[in-house]
Amino acid sequence: MVLKELREEVWRANMALPKEGLVTWTSGNVSGRDPGTNLMVIKPSGVLFEDLTPADLVVVDMDGNVVEGEHGPSSDTATHLWVYRHRPDINGMVHTHSNYATAFAAVNKPIPAVLTAIADEFGGPIPCGGYASIGGKEIGEEILRSIGNSPAILMKNHGVFTIGKTVQKALKAAIMTEDVAKTVWLALQIGVPDELPAEEVAANFDRYQNRYGTAQASIIDF
Ligand code: 13P
Repeated sequence: MVLKELREEVWRANMALPKEGLVTWTSGNVSGRDPGTNLMVIKPSGVLFEDLTPADLVVVDMDGNVVEGEHGPSSDTATHLWVYRHRPDINGMVHTHSNYATAFAAVNKPIPAVLTAIADEFGGPIPCGGYASIGGKEIGEEILRSIGNSPAILMKNHGVFTIGKTVQKALKAAIMTEDVAKTVWLALQIGVPDELPAEEVAANFDRYQNRYGTAQASIIDF
């Protein structure tokens, strides 16, 4: 079996989707790209997460040819491949229909930068890309056109796509997307969320991306 470690990593990330409440039934998928061989490991299409094993994952090359797999690859395979082919910095990708974030996608609204958590992880609003049909490269094209520097994008009438240097980073972005979408949705019930000034968005992003979780960030300087 090829890419045993990547299979395990992509399997674990797929299994995290139902555990984190981001998917229902067989919706959603995770892939990972091996930069050495340029092969992609992706969830098989239409298989229940509870039945999924690492061996069920499908390995495809960058042209979409199945290299190894008993099942058909995810229906979003062309989307994932399009992003990997055009973004060599990206090695992990997640797709969900997580409820709060997808509600924003249903009404074609980005998630505004109204929380420090949004500035930290996304460096600005989470954009909403235009509608594109499932199955071909169109969703991938729209992701690249509209995602900017964010690791996440909402796709109109569809759901969430996240990207990362690693599978783990893309998974984290998917979890954070739903978390902030829920908070913003709640905020919208009681008032008008106040956008952070651009310089505060930039400062929070810089702190979180470059110093958060390090000894340096823990030094208290009154
Ligand atoms: P797959 O089971 O083919 O990955 O489809 C899930 C999905 O969410 C399609 O958008």
